[in-house]
Amino acid sequence: MALVREKDGKRLHVKSALMGESLVSKEFIDNLDIAPQERLYPEVSVLKIGGQSICDRGAKALPGVLKEIVANRPAHKMLLTTGGGTRSRHIYTIGLEMGMPTGVIAKFGSMVSEQNALMIATLLSPWGGVKISHADIVKLPTYFAEKIIPVMHGMPPYDYFAIKPKVGRIPIHRTDVGLVILADLIGSRTVIFVKDENGLYTEDPKKNPDARFIAEIGAQDLLDSNQDDLVIERPCLEIIQNSEVLEKVQIINGMIPGNITKALNGEHVGTFIYKQ
Ligand code: ADP
Ligand code: MG
Repeated sequence: MALVREKDGKRLHVKSALMGESLVSKEFIDNLDIAPQERLYPEVSVLKIGGQSICDRGAKALPGVLKEIVANRPAHKMLLTTGGGTRSRHIYTIGLEMGMPTGVIAKFGSMVSEQNALMIATLLSPWGGVKISHADIVKLPTYFAEKIIPVMHGMPPYDYFAIKPKVGRIPIHRTDVGLVILADLIGSRTVIFVKDENGLYTEDPKKNPDARFIAEIGAQDLLDSNQDDLVIERPCLEIIQNSEVLEKVQIINGMIPGNITKALNGEHVGTFIYKQ
């Protein structure tokens, strides 16, 4: 980049494409020529272990899920994240009742998902489970060189800066969104939500047993369908659509043995939501 001297000859500037721009202009951003995004760790599979759907079931679900993850350790590099689940919902209810702002509610969510990360990392510690923080993402090569299974809390770190939604004060960027942002950051090809249903249905199958299963769907089509309830948080869909590196995410039933292994091996179990 060229150095340019001001007309009065006193100051030097580094000439760049963004110089003098507000970075707000839509036309400017639309026409800005940028390099394609690097895929930093395409071979790392990211998995979110559901809070309400898996962790909260304790001994009824976690040992099976973790055993399957450990069995895949020789063949796969896995980065785990955790949801918050029922304890998040409990503190959200009280916080909302007590007038807490969105940022405080989001902070509660982080703290609870961190409890689950601590528990899963501790359970996995004989097999290389290590609890990590967001700042440790830059250390991933070291972890995988040592066959470590890093476990991170799933809530994205907006915390006190979480943006108030149009209606109510429950932050819209929670632990599902955290996984999709993480996958976009590191360029994972395999993004797996481990939950307690077979994937996406036309409605919540717990509320309507006649809901139809959707094996695969484009993120834009799903957004356009404006379905009332979804198996992953709604902002995930827009993030997938806007991503330069994400191809698809997969939602699987972790209660069925073998599903995690199949998903890690690229098999179509559960639902694929792909970028259109
Ligand atoms: P997690 O604990 O992983 O965050 P959640 O309980 O928040 O999982 O979300 C998964 C749940 O979403 C499912 O167990 C299901 O009951 C519910 N759900 C709501 N709408 C749908 C839908 N359209 N398809 C499938 N599941 C749905
Ligand atoms: Mg959830």
